[in-house]
Amino acid sequence: MSRLALVTGGTRGIGEAISVNLKEKGYQVVANYGGNDAAAQAFTERTGITALKFDVSDYDAVQSAVAQIESDFGDIDVLVNNAGITRDTTMHRMSFEQWDQVIQTNLASCFNTCKAVIEKMRQNGFGRIVNVGSVNGQAGQYGQVNYAAAKSGIHGFTKALALEGAGKGITVNAIAPGYVDTDMVRAVPEDVLKKIIATIPVGRLGNPNDIARSVLFLVSDDAGFITGSTLSINGGQHMY
Ligand code: NDP
Repeated sequence: MSRLALVTGGTRGIGEAISVNLKEKGYQVVANYGGNDAAAQAFTERTGITALKFDVSDYDAVQSAVAQIESDFGDIDVLVNNAGITRDTTMHRMSFEQWDQVIQTNLASCFNTCKAVIEKMRQNGFGRIVNVGSVNGQAGQYGQVNYAAAKSGIHGFTKALALEGAGKGITVNAIAPGYVDTDMVRAVPEDVLKKIIATIPVGRLGNPNDIARSVLFLVSDDAGFITGSTLSINGGQHMY
């Protein structure tokens, strides 16, 4: 029987590529999204993958959504915590809301989703969790104290949960993408983006498939001995 994967933020950008690559490998996939119904509908028409709207920063909404997925499709074997947002500005201009939205959506969401799936994974003796961090959580970035803190937190969260899951067949890993050509990066001003690309040794932005194929490996049976690790996928921009 095919394994069931939940990909948060799985309808656009990197998440879409992860959802599609998993489906092509034979996984049953549910792709979550936050509010862009038009993008989600177009995604489902394009890919045939079920899209499910719920806010990953809302603990109760996540618990209900996972219960619904379990009743409709079965237990979740693979969880990819990919949903994320930016609210960039320098610290002296950053509002509490900008700080809190990013911490809740990018970091607290990992608690919310993992809490919802971990008991079944423990009972089943199998689970694969991949958390999407960022090069900016490793290196820091001007104008991103909220985002860098959340992504850096993901890397610590991953290692702690990996220790807890190791004896139960559950692996927990993080990936740290560099700059990838998605809506999130297209929102960066062009002059700033040019300067960023100049710092990437391979000389280009990543594309979503560069990231998705690494996730495919980390959730596969071949990666059963890899847990608590962070895989940097950044074209050589930052070697950590
Ligand atoms: P996009 O902005 O292209 O897509 C974000 C996805 O997350 C969308 O599906 C969006 O749903 C969903 N989402 C946002 N907020 C919520 C929420 N509260 N609840 C549920 N879903 C939500 O992002 P990217 O593909 O660029 O980024 C994906 C991940 O990769 C993020 O975690 C990002 O931080 C990380 N990353 C990205 C990099 C890049 O260069 N692009 C570099 C390093 C890390 P909807 O369509 O409804 O808005």
